Amino acid sequence: MSFKLTYATMFDPPAELHERFDAALVEVASTLGATHALHIDGVDITAVETDTRSSPIDERRILGHFPLADRTQAQHAMAAAQKAFAGWRATPMAERTRLLRRVADLIEQRIYTISAALTLEVGKNRMEALGEVQETADFFRIYADDFERHDGFEHALPDDPLSGFRSRNRSVMRPYGAWVVIAPFNFPFALAGGPVAAALVTGNTVVFKSATDTPWSGRLLADCLRDAGFPPGVFNYLNGHGKDIGQLLVEDPHTAGITFTGSFAVGSRIVRAMASGAYPRPCIAEMGGKNACIVTASADLERAALGIIRSGFGMGGQKCSALSRLYVDAAVADTLIEKLVEKMAALRIGDPCLRETWLGPMATTNALRNFGRYIPSLEDDGSSILAGGQRLREGDLEHGYFVAPTLAEAPADHPLFREEMFLPIVMLCRVRDREQAMRLANDSPLGLTAGCYGDDDDVAWFFENIEAGVTYANRPQGATTGAWPGYQPFGGWKGSGSTGKAIASFYYLAQYQREQSRTVV
Ligand code: GLU
Repeated sequence: MSFKLTYATMFDPPAELHERFDAALVEVASTLGATHALHIDGVDITAVETDTRSSPIDERRILGHFPLADRTQAQHAMAAAQKAFAGWRATPMAERTRLLRRVADLIEQRIYTISAALTLEVGKNRMEALGEVQETADFFRIYADDFERHDGFEHALPDDPLSGFRSRNRSVMRPYGAWVVIAPFNFPFALAGGPVAAALVTGNTVVFKSATDTPWSGRLLADCLRDAGFPPGVFNYLNGHGKDIGQLLVEDPHTAGITFTGSFAVGSRIVRAMASGAYPRPCIAEMGGKNACIVTASADLERAALGIIRSGFGMGGQKCSALSRLYVDAAVADTLIEKLVEKMAALRIGDPCLRETWLGPMATTNALRNFGRYIPSLEDDGSSILAGGQRLREGDLEHGYFVAPTLAEAPADHPLFREEMFLPIVMLCRVRDREQAMRLANDSPLGLTAGCYGDDDDVAWFFENIEAGVTYANRPQGATTGAWPGYQPFGGWKGSGSTGKAIASFYYLAQYQREQSRTVV
């Protein structure tokens, strides 16, 4: 690679990036239709049952045949991870971090082909896809750096001289064992790679299960780990249904810890399951968002409109960080709405393989079904749909899952201000003042991201009062989205996250380890 994708190049990509992405699309197209394998105990293993998956851009386009692990294979993966644990735990820090950096190198070498596959599998535009893959490489490097910066989490403590003896004391952080990573469909590469990297560098072994909607991305990540050369059993890859294989992994008493990213409903069930059994085990659950943005009377409305559109409709609202509730001071609401509607009309929606496309299809048929359910409910109860509201089927879009970004105005107690939709639907409510806006914004069981547009005083007041883990003010690149590892730690409060510690933060790796106090006389 002659340049590295950064937050800056994301918004101002050089021409070479487009050329290389276009070439990768051609390369990846020649691999479509292949049969893929699981990866267990250092070996690629085929499954008896496979799932044939097609692209949300055009469902006639077959991506490949992906393995569905059976229960025996899932147990085999867990057994391999357990068997490999003692050796991996004892592997020196320098070797563990070397392997993590090797994975980062491989991801960067393959960034274009992996991103092209992500575009075909999930429907995200090329910049979103490239951003996700670069973010994943960054996670591997950041966690390796972080582990070293903490000296492997081993620290000498003061000696305590007692009754003529001197006892020497240390704090040593130890891994838990076989760690399960269950990834979501919306960031199937990054939100798998991040936890896998964290678990591995701290000395845990890993069983990773991809979301059944996105096994291809999962497999491409597994390829990078396989090719980096981890000892057999240290990293294992499964794909399978949550109700079946996911459940088995959660219930297995040998599962030492879990990182789950997905819905609140499933996440809270897993947290409860991990808290019961013979003894409570750690569970890092990254769950939903119902993210609010407050626009005060002093806001720069042009900037607000840009950030709102990017965060409300980018990737079709299918980010946990997406903006879905907008509380706008009544004094500026009409002007803001006018700007939003005008910008929404100019959005390029269509085939995400094309360079100019900003918004591709929804990732799943489930999203389409939900869109078909929510829009009529808005029409029936007298809320006003200010823009969008329809499925898009014209021309080339006929066989894909395309919908129009939608802006709707409704009273604050409308049920869609509570329900996490995971769709490009932004609900807007006019408010009297910032206090009312804050009360409504915080009136949610979730607290992942939040945004604010306003003057310095409004911004200071916003940070002080908002109940959310990732907060942004006056940001044109996104009102509530777009955290980048190393710059914005990413994690939720309340029902959005089970631990209150963010991804890629200073505190993240500590969650994958348990402390042992060592005293010797
Ligand atoms: N890292 C992404 C962002 O900041 C969000 C990840 C997610 O939505 O799950 O927008």
